[in-house]
Amino acid sequence: MRRKKFREIEVSSLGLGCMRLPKLNPDNEAIDFERAQEIVDYAYEHGVNYFDTAYPYHGGESEVFVGKALAKYPRNSFYVATKMPIWEVKSEEDLDRIFAEQLEKTGFDYFDFYLCHSIQDGNYDAYVKYNVFDFLQRKRDEGKIRYIGFSFHSTPELLEKVCSAHKWDFAQLQLNYLDWERQNAKMQYEILKKYNMACMVMEPVRGGALADLCPEANDMLKQVHSDKSIASWAIRFAASLENVMVVLSGMSNMEQVRDNVATLTDFEPLTDNERDVLEQAKQAYIKKDTVPCTGCRYCMDCTQGVDIPKMFKIYNDFVMTDNKSKFTDEYENEQGKSNLCVSCGICARNCPQHIKIAENMTKISDLYQKYVNKTKN
Ligand code: SF4
Ligand code: SF4
Repeated sequence: MRRKKFREIEVSSLGLGCMRLPKLNPDNEAIDFERAQEIVDYAYEHGVNYFDTAYPYHGGESEVFVGKALAKYPRNSFYVATKMPIWEVKSEEDLDRIFAEQLEKTGFDYFDFYLCHSIQDGNYDAYVKYNVFDFLQRKRDEGKIRYIGFSFHSTPELLEKVCSAHKWDFAQLQLNYLDWERQNAKMQYEILKKYNMACMVMEPVRGGALADLCPEANDMLKQVHSDKSIASWAIRFAASLENVMVVLSGMSNMEQVRDNVATLTDFEPLTDNERDVLEQAKQAYIKKDTVPCTGCRYCMDCTQGVDIPKMFKIYNDFVMTDNKSKFTDEYENEQGKSNLCVSCGICARNCPQHIKIAENMTKISDLYQKYVNKTKN
């Protein structure tokens, strides 16, 4: 596994994101500890030493799992990152309460990396109001945190403001070849460089979307490397960037872990020729006009029972394959259909991708109505 020097330590280029661990049941967030432990063990044994969790992942269970899964390994042989959920903070005392709870849940004495979770326009004022940065500095002075950073889902303008306000060690950005220009990931990456902050990458495969593009784009990539996965191109794109320390991937099964580990062991940066092919594949994929949902589920639960990410998955699969009967069948089999949406708008406030969820739910319902009779006759 490739490792990179960060301050006085070395971090693995692949980090295990613990927000999409295998679940006991697809309908709730409970982790299948046994299968998830296999993933952690394989990653650790193959040189992964960076494990990223957060307070809300898996309904709060992810931090507990990470503590248990890593307990059998020496504490100084791996690095753990977790995050302050500002939406749970109503006073400065809450910072201490939540931080203590996180230590207790994981069973650790300290966290190596600690982030302000998901800074965006709607919550940055709260981070300022509750003096979160000063709190984190105090925790660092007490030896409870080693490096301070934040994860980010907003504009380059806000990123500049946040970076210039304090001396941060790192930030976690959504960075992949689709968002490089479309969602300003390139500009954001450059801002971190300017402030001498390391870049940790989240969503390198965009919630799995870049693991299986449309058939035309897949073919283009397979013609270059028939033996390599489509996801490996996305991992290599992020890992080829000089200031990227860790590429986090939320892995859900052993196949993904093996593939990612292989990609970042004996790592080869993308060549100019590969970049050209990747660009062509990207353009073919963009033409399909999918909804840029990463499946993070921050928008859930919908007040009316719509399974928002599931609806987008069904829709995106249709857009890429044009399989109308599969689309109508999957729509009918889903409990949380888009036609339950009453356009209350609550969900969209929490979407880091700024997706117009209600509008899209109407579009999906209309599409179903358009095709249902044609496919059933
Ligand atoms: S806008 Fe629609 S999908 Fe979103 S929470 Fe309201 S009812 Fe649910
Ligand atoms: S709609 Fe937005 S918040 Fe909901 S799962 Fe998709 S990306 Fe995440």
